[in-house]
Amino acid sequence: MKKLLTLIALLLFVSQLPAAQVAGVRLWTAPDHTRLVFDTTGPAEHKVFSLSGPDRLVIDFADVTVADGFSAAAIEDVHLGGLRHAPRPDGGLRVVLDLRQAVRPKTFLLKPNASYGHRLVVDLYPVEATRVPRVAKSTTDIERARDIVVAVDAGHGGDDPGASGSRFRTEEKDVTLQIARRLKRLIDAEPGMRAVLTRDGDYYIGLRKRMAIAREQRADLFVSIHADAFNDKRVRGSSVYVLSQRGASSEAARWLAEKENSSDLVGGVSLDDKDDVLASVLLDLSQSATQHASLSAASRVYGELGRVGRVHGRRVQQAGFMVLKSPDVPSMLVETGFISNPEEERNLRDPQHQERMAKAILSGVQKFFTEAPPPGTRLAERQRAILKHVISKGDTLSEIADRYQVSLGSLRRQNDIRSDNLIRIGQVLVIPDT
Ligand SMILES: [Zn+2]
Repeated sequence: MKKLLTLIALLLFVSQLPAAQVAGVRLWTAPDHTRLVFDTTGPAEHKVFSLSGPDRLVIDFADVTVADGFSAAAIEDVHLGGLRHAPRPDGGLRVVLDLRQAVRPKTFLLKPNASYGHRLVVDLYPVEATRVPRVAKSTTDIERARDIVVAVDAGHGGDDPGASGSRFRTEEKDVTLQIARRLKRLIDAEPGMRAVLTRDGDYYIGLRKRMAIAREQRADLFVSIHADAFNDKRVRGSSVYVLSQRGASSEAARWLAEKENSSDLVGGVSLDDKDDVLASVLLDLSQSATQHASLSAASRVYGELGRVGRVHGRRVQQAGFMVLKSPDVPSMLVETGFISNPEEERNLRDPQHQERMAKAILSGVQKFFTEAPPPGTRLAERQRAILKHVISKGDTLSEIADRYQVSLGSLRRQNDIRSDNLIRIGQVLVIPDT
């Protein structure tokens, strides 16, 4: 019994041991490689991966923190431009090595010996073949990346006028096309973004066809523009809809039923050669990711619409709208206002108001993509290239500016800092491009 209690006590003690700490880092430059040694207070579980444009090596430590007084100030040589670190949200630690060129890394753990404790050794071997100037390389990467594509869908059209206003007999199909065209112009003017219209004239397109156009164009987002109507003319305000769970389930049933004779890809995967269970799992995964993204994009747009005018309803709404049912294109439907409300009808016809609505939608869409840029897009490449610096003890702004070869003014502007007194240890600074 006593043995057992001791064991339990020991286990409790072990589980409450503090996470391993990185106490220091040492550097040696050999003729053919650079060796970094991290001194840790215990064995440090870690993962290593490389990033390019600019070249970096990332070391993710699980359950590891940085000891007080840890400094990487002198960690720099022909292969290595510097070392940054930041805590990870999951309690781990991320160390980023800014490389002067691409390297082939080799890492291994060493157990304590007479002179040293636990160590993680990181050897950096330069990759000769990829010795390309840094700037040129990152520019090429950005050139090769694709634009974000937004499908803008003007609701109704042709013999389907949609709702109509009571005061000027304004037809929904006309204002939706006008706002859609404005939104397309704004999106096309943004670097790294491009819009496609599902219709660009007064004709009708079926709802499935609208989705098909977005999917053919590999759209990253589908935005359907509408205007609401209600019996009570006092009701007003814009609103944003995403697909309801019920709508998603019924669509999944249809996709699975039709997969035999459909060669459509869902999220880049073909369903027709998969067995029923696998197909339904794949479809479900794609749908949940899409619904999650739809809601996040819609919330951004909803927030922006609230800045330019009244919103109807307290949050993003959910409905079974057919046009929102793409299983792999995040989709939202924007009701730009109540055409049945005389004042909003007048607004919806007004070019300035239309432009404000289009700008608000654009701004919500941009916020969404900035938070989660689709992989392979220019925005994603640009964000990967953003340099960050975590302020550690003794850092000053001018020293940081020197180190990254940027001006003190631009560093301050980029991070909205007015004086040195306002920086604190652990704060993350974005290093400006120039
Ligand atoms: Zn409509």
